[in-house]
Amino acid sequence: MPELPEVENVRRSLQAAGVEGSKVERVELLRANLRTPFDQRLIAKTHGQRIERVWRRAKFLLFELSKDAWISHLGMTGSWRVEPKRTGVGFAALKHDHIRVHLSSGMVLVYHDPRRFGVFEAHPGKDLVHSKWLRGLGQEPLESWDGESLHASLRHRESVIKSAIMDQKVVVGVGNIYASEALFMAGIRPTRKANRVSREECGRLAQAIRKVLDKAIASGGSTIRDYRQADGQKGEFQEQLLVYGRAGLSCRQCAQPVKQKVIGGRSSFWCATCQR
Ligand SMILES: [Zn+2]
Repeated sequence: MPELPEVENVRRSLQAAGVEGSKVERVELLRANLRTPFDQRLIAKTHGQRIERVWRRAKFLLFELSKDAWISHLGMTGSWRVEPKRTGVGFAALKHDHIRVHLSSGMVLVYHDPRRFGVFEAHPGKDLVHSKWLRGLGQEPLESWDGESLHASLRHRESVIKSAIMDQKVVVGVGNIYASEALFMAGIRPTRKANRVSREECGRLAQAIRKVLDKAIASGGSTIRDYRQADGQKGEFQEQLLVYGRAGLSCRQCAQPVKQKVIGGRSSFWCATCQR
């Protein structure tokens, strides 16, 4: 499933391909729905508008247009790719291509999603903060967020720390792999009570979360199976994992065997020596 780093990479690839500033000629819908039905009338209203900015909130890709906006979520297997300008002839859609956005530059922005759990909605106006998808989301880990704000949001949480940092109302985008990795980097056991993690430990943890996400972004994201970046490249992050998926193997810091347990329904990995 695409996680925050993959979505961020899709955003950067779209930006690098020069999608911002392009004018939308036509959104071609190749089926009637994804996870939600397409609102064809609202989508058609965006024809002729310019894509001013492609940004991200949690795992949502947001296309800010001249007047309105599109909200896209990649679901389980979604991806966007840019087909370069072709002179003269068009090109055929691949199986599982569901949306083709024809830009006036000649480029075509294609949404591909075999399992169709993604979302593509046009939003009237640009004020996306109150859209039903973005309402109530926690803080963005890559922006102005630190141990202080993490500590404040954990103060009344009785759950274990690993579940707390995976809660989208606390901080967005910390998936299961990233939670195990960041807790290892910060030296905190995943089973600790969230409200017992000190301010200083929260400082280390917030830094570790940002570091692990930055590393995943730099290596193209974590998901090897289904996911590809907008330029078709695969992620390499899984080859560099510190603790996740390494049950029984030697800890990379102290050589003791890495432990594994299911916490909150998710596989969790830690070192009992390095994490307290
Ligand atoms: Zn260790």
